[in-house]
Amino acid sequence: MADVQTSGRGRGRKKWESPKGGLWFSIILRPKVPSPRLPLLQFLAAIATRQALENETGLSVRLKWPNDLVLGNAKLGGILVESKTIGESVAFAILGIGLNINQGKAQLPPRAISLRLVSGKQRDPRLLLRAILDQIRSSYDDLDNPSSIMEDWWRNCVHRLTRVQVTLPKDTVTGISRAINEDGSLVIETDDRKIRKVSEGSLRLLND
Ligand code: ADP
Repeated sequence: MADVQTSGRGRGRKKWESPKGGLWFSIILRPKVPSPRLPLLQFLAAIATRQALENETGLSVRLKWPNDLVLGNAKLGGILVESKTIGESVAFAILGIGLNINQGKAQLPPRAISLRLVSGKQRDPRLLLRAILDQIRSSYDDLDNPSSIMEDWWRNCVHRLTRVQVTLPKDTVTGISRAINEDGSLVIETDDRKIRKVSEGSLRLLND
């Protein structure tokens, strides 16, 4: 756990702003699952963190594909899993979670939000960390139960059955986000009624 990160990262080369006032932590895990199931870990971490935050604050935190926690339309936090695999076996995975807790508007990037900005209340990041770790621990065995993880995630997804746009490396997909697969890919029904499965990219909510 760090008070401040000077080189916080998001996906790819994106920077993760981590000033004082947030909760920035990583845990090392050695899940006994074959490597193709590793994407589940990120979704399990997202639903556990969401639940812990809702229990502790009463706020309705939602999930955005693939790795964001949001309040309303603004980004509250993100999750990153990096791993070492040998063939199909997982040597270890590092689960990193970053959450905006006490920062004011000036300490947040655009389109971001902190718990304090919504509730007006200052919180101890260590107490939230404890709640999140407890929740991860108690749901950890669900790694053997992908459908329960993905159903929970989908139930709490902010763009469930709404219009989205996903920017892929070479392509953009626009349509209704219809479902999430157990491999973590998102199913989109495009405007010309085709079903597209996207596995990477950045998602934007469309409000029309
Ligand atoms: P995506 O832009 O697809 O959500 P990531 O999940 O990797 O990509 O998150 C990185 C992005 O999140 C950054 O490019 C920036 O726009 C935003 N960001 C950086 N730091 C924070 C933060 N502390 N809170 C909310 N959003 C942030």
